[in-house]
Amino acid sequence: MNNSRRHFLAHGAAGLSLLGGFSSFARAGLDKAQILVIGGGFGGATAAKYLRLFSNNTANVILIEPNASFLSCPMSNFVVAGMRSMADITSPYDSLTKHHGIKLIRDSVSAIDPDKKTVKLSSGSVIGYDKVVLSPGISLMTNSIEGLAKANQAGVTLQAWKAGPETLMLYKQLAAMHDGGVFAISIPEAPYRCPPGPYERASLVANYLKQHKPKSKVLILDANQDITSKGALFKKAWSEQYSGLIEYLPSHNVTGVDPKTKTLRFEVQDDVRADVLNVLPAMSAGEIAIKTGLANANGRWVNVDFLNFEATATRDIHVLGDAIQTAPLMPKSGHMANQHAKVAAAAIIAQLNDWPINPAPVVNNTCYSFVSEQAAVHIASVHQYDAQAKTFKSVPGAGGLSSEPSNTEASYAWGWAHNIWADTLA
Ligand SMILES: Cc1cc2nc3c(=O)[nH]c(=O)nc-3n(C[C@H](O)[C@H](O)[C@H](O)COP(=O)(O)OP(=O)(O)OC[C@H]3O[C@@H](n4cnc5c(N)ncnc54)[C@H](O)[C@@H]3O)c2cc1C
Repeated sequence: MNNSRRHFLAHGAAGLSLLGGFSSFARAGLDKAQILVIGGGFGGATAAKYLRLFSNNTANVILIEPNASFLSCPMSNFVVAGMRSMADITSPYDSLTKHHGIKLIRDSVSAIDPDKKTVKLSSGSVIGYDKVVLSPGISLMTNSIEGLAKANQAGVTLQAWKAGPETLMLYKQLAAMHDGGVFAISIPEAPYRCPPGPYERASLVANYLKQHKPKSKVLILDANQDITSKGALFKKAWSEQYSGLIEYLPSHNVTGVDPKTKTLRFEVQDDVRADVLNVLPAMSAGEIAIKTGLANANGRWVNVDFLNFEATATRDIHVLGDAIQTAPLMPKSGHMANQHAKVAAAAIIAQLNDWPINPAPVVNNTCYSFVSEQAAVHIASVHQYDAQAKTFKSVPGAGGLSSEPSNTEASYAWGWAHNIWADTLA
């Protein structure tokens, strides 16, 4: 039985319940296939664009995303520290439609049925698919810290670990803090979204305090035994530029929060009180991946086949970005999500054309962190697929690390941001 016939028999009936205007049922083959991309962040938006580019604009690609615009976590620490506005980290989605012919649905997916090959939208519509590309980002495991859900509801604790209204709210809390106050940021055990992100945030908040509230302090409460990325560079910058302004406490795992007294509790250490509480709990794959039963790595992350990023739990759902169980030394970063997207898009187009897929993909990561408004550092790595181990392995000697923070790297960092936003969206 050929692919399209098998597919039609398995999914034809279910696929008939569709949004008006889209193809009437799912069939294999690139010209007829319906590809749904769920989540328009770094992974999903890049995948949607490159599915079109790699198919010479013939693939039928629908991107489903609830937000009106793309909001970037990279550079969002500048908003938290009052040095940039939300507009500086916001980009429109309309180029994906205008330049690349991607259909955009502003909604969120409430359920995926891998047997019927349909997705249900929050608005109630049901859409059939041949392929899903899912890049839902992370969920915050609020229940891992006693009292956090209530403290979040009361607005006493904030995360701002997804760019959006909380990013600005955290800045407002910082701006309202008295001189002499304590801004506490707590970091969960790795893996979590963006290994250096919390240390960059601490640095930029300290930069703000140095100028505006010099009697204040940033307290970093890290569940890890040491800084998880660029440790020596952050420590050097902190001792040289923020002496007395940043206190770093490793092995401090927050277990509870009291919103009334703004107090954090730990596994072993004494309680800590602070004026602004930026509490980052443990993280897992975005909720829709967990609900769909894809998170087969400790119930938290999605295992994928690294040749095409198909979830190992089910066929035809390709998962990207922060939601996956990453390969060793592969960070949960926007740059890496963008790279996953390109490998997955190329493999999907090859599969739908009945071409062999690339057996040896290579991806890279570059991550800049600001240690002050003017100076940044970077880390870079290259990851090659290893057919025997069926995973990506970092290539020894490739990549690199800054020797010291510099203004030049700060301008490279802004260049990186503008380029990756354009590569993802324009
Ligand atoms: C403070 C901070 C700084 C960072 N700095 C950097 C940096 O300098 N460099 C770097 O490379 N990375 C950085 N990162 C990490 C980067 O933001 C993430 O790794 C990246 O966003 C992951 O991409 P993603 O596609 O997996 O998820 P996201 O980009 O979060 O995209 C997920 C998308 O899915 C949508 N979605 C979720 N559920 C559904 C659903 N059910 N239906 C439809 N849509 C849904 C969401 O609305 C969202 O738009 C930083 C992160 C933070 C928090």
